[in-house]
Amino acid sequence: MELKICHLYPDVLNLYGDRGNIICMKKRLEWRGIDCTVTPLGLGSAETLAGFDLVFIGGGQDFEQEVLLPDLQRGRAAEVRAAVADGVTFLAICGGYQMLGNYYETHTGEKCDFICAVNFHTVGAPERMIGNYFFNCTADCGGSGVVAFENHSGRTFLGHGVQPLGHVTRGFGNNGTDGTEGVRWQNVFGSYGHGSLLPKNPALADFILQTALERKYGQCDLAPLDDSMELAAHYEISKRL
Ligand code: GLN
Repeated sequence: MELKICHLYPDVLNLYGDRGNIICMKKRLEWRGIDCTVTPLGLGSAETLAGFDLVFIGGGQDFEQEVLLPDLQRGRAAEVRAAVADGVTFLAICGGYQMLGNYYETHTGEKCDFICAVNFHTVGAPERMIGNYFFNCTADCGGSGVVAFENHSGRTFLGHGVQPLGHVTRGFGNNGTDGTEGVRWQNVFGSYGHGSLLPKNPALADFILQTALERKYGQCDLAPLDDSMELAAHYEISKRL
C-alpha cells in the first residue's frame, strides 16, 4: 500500500510547526510498512494535483493568503474543487482551512475570494483568538479528544448542511460563539489547530490516514502503534486546560 501526499504551498503556508503534520503522517504510515511519498507543490508550480491521495495545506497570515490569490485563480482553485469532489483527503490548517471556503473578509475590510470547495466563509475581527484549546471530534471524525494551539483573527461560519470537525470545550474554535471547530466535508478535514496538530493527537492522525487509505484500497484496519510518547504530550497539554 502507498499514499501519495501533496504538500500544497509549503513555501508560503507553514506556521507554528504545521509541517510536523506531514512528518507525523509519513512516519505513522512507514511504521506500519505502508509507503508514503511527499511532493511539495509551491507557488507557481505547473504540476497538477492529479494522482495525489492526500493534500496538506498549512496556515498563514492574511498577507500570505492574499499573495496566493492570483495562483489560486490561475487554476489551482478549480483543481482543488475537483479533487474535493472526487473524494481526495485534505487536511488544512487555519489560513489553509479558511482558503477552502468561499471568502475571507479581513478585519481591515479586504475581501479575498477563496476556493469555494466547501460552503463556509470567514470574517476577521481586531481581537485575535489565541491559546491552547481542546475539542472533541464528532463521531463522523472518529470521536477523539484533541489538543492544539489556535491564533486567528478570522471567525469561520459553516454554511447550511456543513458539519464541523468537532466541538470546543476550551478555547474558541471556528468563531468563539457557536462552539464548533473546523470542518468535515466529504474527505476534507479543516482545523484551526496548529501546534502541530497531529503528533500529539494520534487518534485523529490515524482517522485521517485511514480515510485516505480506504478511498484507495477499500476497508483497511491500521495496526496499533506504541503511542506512549504522543499521548504523554497530549495529556501534558490537556492538563493545562
Ligand atoms: N490569517 C488568518 C487569521 O488570522 C489565519 C491565521 C493563521 O493561519 N494562523 O485569521
